[in-house]
Amino acid sequence: MNVGKALSFGRRRLAGRSESFARDASLLLAFVLGEPPEFVHLHPEACVSENLFALYTTLLDRRASGEPIAYIRGFQEFMGHNFLVDRRVLVPRPETEHVVDTAVRLLTETSEASPFVGDICCGSGAIGLSIAKALPSSRVVLSDVSRGAVGLARENAKRLGLSGRAAFLVGDLVTPLLKAGFAGKFDVVTANPPYIPTGEIETLSPTVREYEPRLALDGGESGLEVIRRISTEVPAVLKPGGHLVMEIGADQGDACQDIMMEDGETWREIQVLKDYAGRQRVVVGRTRGCS
Ligand code: GLN
Repeated sequence: MNVGKALSFGRRRLAGRSESFARDASLLLAFVLGEPPEFVHLHPEACVSENLFALYTTLLDRRASGEPIAYIRGFQEFMGHNFLVDRRVLVPRPETEHVVDTAVRLLTETSEASPFVGDICCGSGAIGLSIAKALPSSRVVLSDVSRGAVGLARENAKRLGLSGRAAFLVGDLVTPLLKAGFAGKFDVVTANPPYIPTGEIETLSPTVREYEPRLALDGGESGLEVIRRISTEVPAVLKPGGHLVMEIGADQGDACQDIMMEDGETWREIQVLKDYAGRQRVVVGRTRGCS
């Protein structure tokens, strides 16, 4: 068996089962060979041993059943770093990189020499740890209501060499941050909360619906329930003039702006930013206080 034949075999096995069947077959074959993804396109004649072909077939079958590639390989690239992922956490999406970019831009514009960042609903830690990587003088606190997620985020911090600048807390939204004494302390708080309306969960692709944690997806009946709580609760842990940078669903920009303006005293400079697909993806707000 060689790489070219194994690739054709994999594509046939996944056709009709995965929309990205060609890409999936390449990624899985490269993964079992321990090579970078481009290898399989550059070396169609390379040999694939019987054992590795058997392993490849097993992984193709997992993908054919709907399991995300990221869980099969055990990692996902995000902001140029590899994050360990498994069924305890949502797979980091490319559009979530806008949350990181926005937070880093805001922190670079402030005069704070050693910015302090909170990442709530941290999951694998992709957002908070990517910010820590981008800003070597920053310190980050990551929290999640899922103990499993926090365990994985801690592991990712270790692998990225960030253990010295990252702390981890388990608990609901800002509750653990307040308990740890971080009232009024953060320059920026980021969040990728669950924001899918409960009734829409069933319409998601099986790859998302059957495998990713519902806790990380389900935003209650309106999809805005956690977003609303974040808007109300996060000001308590921000410095005056600190920023919230939060991911939202593509059709939630207006509703989020309304939510943040409900209490006219708290948020100013509210902005909704779009992702590269032109869809509303990130909402930013700043607490009142010094400018
Ligand atoms: N963007 C994710 C999806 O569409 C949802 C992420 C979230 O709820 N925070 O599957």
